[in-house]
Order: sequence, then structure tokens, then C-alpha cells
Amino acid sequence: MRCPFCGTQDTKVLDSRLVSEGAQVRRRRTCGHCQERFTTFEVAELQMPKLIKSDGSREPFDEDKLRSGIIKALEKRPVSIESVETAIIRVKEKLQATGERELPSRIIGEAVMEELKRLDQVAYVRFASVYRSFKDISEFRQEIERLESGTSTSEEN
Ligand SMILES: [Zn+2]
Repeated sequence: MRCPFCGTQDTKVLDSRLVSEGAQVRRRRTCGHCQERFTTFEVAELQMPKLIKSDGSREPFDEDKLRSGIIKALEKRPVSIESVETAIIRVKEKLQATGERELPSRIIGEAVMEELKRLDQVAYVRFASVYRSFKDISEFRQEIERLESGTSTSEEN
């Protein structure tokens, strides 16, 4: 860490402690060159990437929209709220893990389909039929048959 007073990189940490209920790390530092002391704060980068829509416009990530899409697909299905929240966290982590600042919005749809596939096959088909807007009924039937043939890909639960 460069010293803000003299610019040298010869600085060291005197002490570190958690602040803001653990959301930040506060570090006291000292410069080995000019002996000045300064403080730095470290926070987790939780910025969600912006979404690029098919028309090229950008929109901010909307967690409520994500949640309502998942809940709608799971309507009257035996899936707990905890599972829904876990799915939302997994989708967000997947987006963050790309390290990109902008992503095509379809990435979210695909991530949601993966989560629903693990949670509930009926919800998965509901979501996929709307999202993918299957071109015709035979394409839709193929997807159902593929699911019914028992090629379940879930590794967890
Ligand atoms: Zn200095």
C-alpha cells in the first residue's frame, strides 16, 4: 500500500480489526519512510454487473425481479422459501464470479433455469417454456421427454 504522504510503498500494517459488524476491515498503517500513520478500510466488492438487453440497452441488476420470476415459476410447488433464497444467492454469485461489469441479460435466465432444474422439474419447465418461448409444441414435448427419461443432473441434495 502506497503512503499517501510521501508516495513510498514501504508501509506496514500496525493493526487490523473488523468494523461495521464485520462488513469492513479497518487497518492502521505506518510509513517506513516518513513515519506518517494512516488508515485504510477494506470492503467486499459486491457490485452486481449491469445487464445488456437484447436491444443493446443496459439495465441494473434487479434482485426483486429475479425473486418474483423464481417465485412465479414455483407457484403452488413444494419448495421452501429458504430454497428460493439460496437459489437467488447462487444466481448472484454466478454473475459476480464472472468478474464482468456488464453481462448479457440472458445469463440470468440460464442461471435461473439451472437452479429450478435442481429444485423442481415442473417449475423448470414452466420457466423454460416462457423464457425460451419454445418455437412449437414438439420442441416443448422433447424437453418434457428429456426430463421424464430421468436424466436428472442434480449432484446436490
Ligand atoms: Zn510516507
